[in-house]
Amino acid sequence: MMPMPGRWLSCALIRCGPSLTLVDCGEGTQVPWKALGWGFRQLGAICLTHMHADHVAGLPGVLFMVAHAGRTETLDIYGPVGTGYVIEGLRRIVPELPFPIQIHELKSGENFPLPGGLRGSCVAASHGIPCLAYEVLGPPRRGISLAFITDTRPTKQLSTFAHDVDLLICESMYDNAEDLPLAKAHAHMLAEEAAGIAKTAGAHALLLTHFSPKITDPLGPEKAARGVFANTRAARDGLVVTLEYDS
Ligand SMILES: [Zn+2]
Ligand SMILES: [Zn+2]
Repeated sequence: MMPMPGRWLSCALIRCGPSLTLVDCGEGTQVPWKALGWGFRQLGAICLTHMHADHVAGLPGVLFMVAHAGRTETLDIYGPVGTGYVIEGLRRIVPELPFPIQIHELKSGENFPLPGGLRGSCVAASHGIPCLAYEVLGPPRRGISLAFITDTRPTKQLSTFAHDVDLLICESMYDNAEDLPLAKAHAHMLAEEAAGIAKTAGAHALLLTHFSPKITDPLGPEKAARGVFANTRAARDGLVVTLEYDS
């Protein structure tokens, strides 16, 4: 995957109170983030799905921005096995940071704390290299949840994992059924397959992301997915989705 004009690479920013959690950090993540105006200082955790460049190459720039914003508290970085090795390499080009970084290599099924009282959990995805899907849960009594699934073939385990989430953010590399062999070969998904996960999981809403450069208009995958799961939208850079409590 490569960045396109007006479409940077994989990332999602979760804000709960003032606290920020970043999921994935593809090249250029800091650009739409700056446009959002949420600031960088409150970034307390980063969850990385896997170590392909389109999901981690934005890290040095983001770490620099967080330093520049004056953070001194620890930043936790979560990811699959091998995360420490990659972060160590990327850190060489931003060697002096005013905050400590704590790396946590996760196993499928692990739970961990996130800033703002959120809880994270993860499950292995199917992408050829270690890759995790994440679920982020609000405080249990109130129960807002979202799942972030990217760079994987659809699996039964992923549908179970995302059961009843308020929002599923899911990759949609291809939108044309003819690209199924390509999706299988590269361990990615069609828009309809992402919609299938949302439907089986009983997700309340689906947000599509991680489009192939072949997709010039994200309305294509949105339309394809809506045939399977009606409450689907295509994400775009800087899109803000607010999850509301029922009462
Ligand atoms: Zn990948
Ligand atoms: Zn990718």
